[in-house]
Amino acid sequence: MAQEMGQIQIHSENIFPIIKRWLYSDRDIFIRELVSNGIDAITKLRRIASMGEVDLPEDEALEIHVAVDAEHGTLSFSDNGIGMTGEEVRKYLTQVAFSSAEDFLKHYKGTDEGSQIIGHFGLGFYSAFMVAKSVTVETLSWQSGAEAVLWKCDGDIDYTMEPSQRTQRGTTVTLVMDDDSADLLSVAKIREELVKYCSFLPYPIYLEDRNAPQEEDKKDKTPLPEDHDADACQDETCACHQEHVPAAPAPINDTHPLWMKKPSDCTEEEYRAFYHRVFTDFQEPLFWVHLNADYPIRLQGILYFPRISNQMQTIEGKIKLYNNQVYVADNVQEVIPEYLMMLKGVIDCPDLPLNVSRSALQTDREVQKIPAYIARKVADRLISMDKTDRESYEKYWNDIRPFILYGCLRDEKFYERMQEHLIFGLAGGGFTNLTDYLAKAEETHKNTVYYTSDPQAQAGYLETFARHDLQVLVMDSPLDIPFVQFLESKHEGVTFARVDAVLPPQAKSDAEVNAEDGLLLEKAFRRATGREHLRVRMEALADADTAAVIQLNEQMRRWQEMGMFSTHDRKMAAEMLDRQLELVLNAASPVVQKLAAAEKKEEGSADSLCCQVFDLARLGAGLMNPDDLMAFVHRSQEMLAGQVERME
Ligand code: ADP
Repeated sequence: MAQEMGQIQIHSENIFPIIKRWLYSDRDIFIRELVSNGIDAITKLRRIASMGEVDLPEDEALEIHVAVDAEHGTLSFSDNGIGMTGEEVRKYLTQVAFSSAEDFLKHYKGTDEGSQIIGHFGLGFYSAFMVAKSVTVETLSWQSGAEAVLWKCDGDIDYTMEPSQRTQRGTTVTLVMDDDSADLLSVAKIREELVKYCSFLPYPIYLEDRNAPQEEDKKDKTPLPEDHDADACQDETCACHQEHVPAAPAPINDTHPLWMKKPSDCTEEEYRAFYHRVFTDFQEPLFWVHLNADYPIRLQGILYFPRISNQMQTIEGKIKLYNNQVYVADNVQEVIPEYLMMLKGVIDCPDLPLNVSRSALQTDREVQKIPAYIARKVADRLISMDKTDRESYEKYWNDIRPFILYGCLRDEKFYERMQEHLIFGLAGGGFTNLTDYLAKAEETHKNTVYYTSDPQAQAGYLETFARHDLQVLVMDSPLDIPFVQFLESKHEGVTFARVDAVLPPQAKSDAEVNAEDGLLLEKAFRRATGREHLRVRMEALADADTAAVIQLNEQMRRWQEMGMFSTHDRKMAAEMLDRQLELVLNAASPVVQKLAAAEKKEEGSADSLCCQVFDLARLGAGLMNPDDLMAFVHRSQEMLAGQVERME
């Protein structure tokens, strides 16, 4: 073959400035493109061999070598795949299928989709020109009698092609780096990129530093004394110990990622090790779902449920998307249901375009099936755990419930699947579900579900419920506010009431309530507390020791909590709640009866006691602000002092 000169066939004047200008934002993907081309070339060779068209030596390792030569300013990518004939180089590398550069410029100008263009136009190889001032391709085809060729292009449309001395089948692409991409001539940097994009490619990838001292050079060449006894020598650095064979370099990738295996062939240790390695998370995952589907879409992957409890804000999920083991991107929203974004995992969809363009994904019918498939698989896994390993289901419940609640709120189908498997923690321990709860409540408080949003702050109320053997659900995460509302909408006639919103029927007594006393005390409490509009109600309670309790209207409170959600102004919300609280005075309490008698006798004589009763009730409801608390402390001290004085 004589030397040949030619021009790359494109319509546009020159594609290289375009490539450089428009794709620069994601410059480093050329590494993925060139390595993927090498992997493709090896995959094709394997296929040809399996069809019996070429004999491969048993022991021939099919692999990729990426070499950094900072001294000469080059990066090279070598494979021993099918290689190309001169004809193929001409066809595949010089007739760029690039019909309308103008169109593409118009279309992508100013969008962030620049990085997606390469795959779009089949320009994978040309991404090299984002970083290189010249590129050479030296290649020898697998076909018998093929001649090796050396193709060279200096970054404009002219190229040269000539015969080469290469004797090994395969292709080496060498990039002479541009001055402004010289930072890529670093082994550490290239390793980082290879780890990101190529960690799970199916053939070994080795990274070489061409400027590293060779094994031979490292050896201490000083001759050993003749009488040196190597067996007895303790000096580890001594040359007598340096005869050992150097350890074989390790590939940067894992060619058989766990997700490609059959779930039945994977061990628990493997799943855990994979999690730690891929997500560099030192915590143990709770459990995982291995996805393995051929229909309705080809998809493999592993989703891990991390340990999170109720700390919604701190959850940072990560789902890595792969295409045939080539990394594509993290957290691609079109593929994973939003509420599962907090999981960690890997998903491999061989049918996705390698360069995922958002707009293309949104309209792709195949892609639209993926989130629904994933949601179904996750629900199946949870349901089977509930059925076969209830102990674990309960143990993990607090960690997984944010996903589940969020999923139910967001995805009707997910709720339908999961509804029988929604469980609720009970104040005082244990779990129940809504059906069992309502069955138990049938006799006592039909169709009302009691719950607490903060078992500690609401301990006073909980004590009353516990005394009467009434079950209370713990609904203490931010998601529970909308979730309570959601459950009510799904179960007609059922209402949820927080423990401070209702007095259970059992807590009341039949004792008579004197309406006149009620009015009198309302006036007294309003005057004593300085709250003109304080709402006061008289009820006879079963427990005579309690003088008063605070009640908050369920609907008002919820409405305010929703508001608080959006404004984040907790202080303001607390003040609003404080303004609309209701004081329930216990007509059966001797304290209340005495207060009424004193007020009747002399108006205002028991004001400080009224304040004390009010504050104690507010303390029990967790509604005291710091100023009120200090006023309460001072008043209590005065009362104590008075008490002590009377003792003398
Ligand atoms: P794509 O990979 O998307 O087809 P490229 O521009 O990266 O586009 O490559 C164009 C063609 O060049 C490939 O389809 C392949 O036939 C050939 N090619 C590129 N790199 C290699 C390689 N390392 N070995 C063999 N053929 C290659």
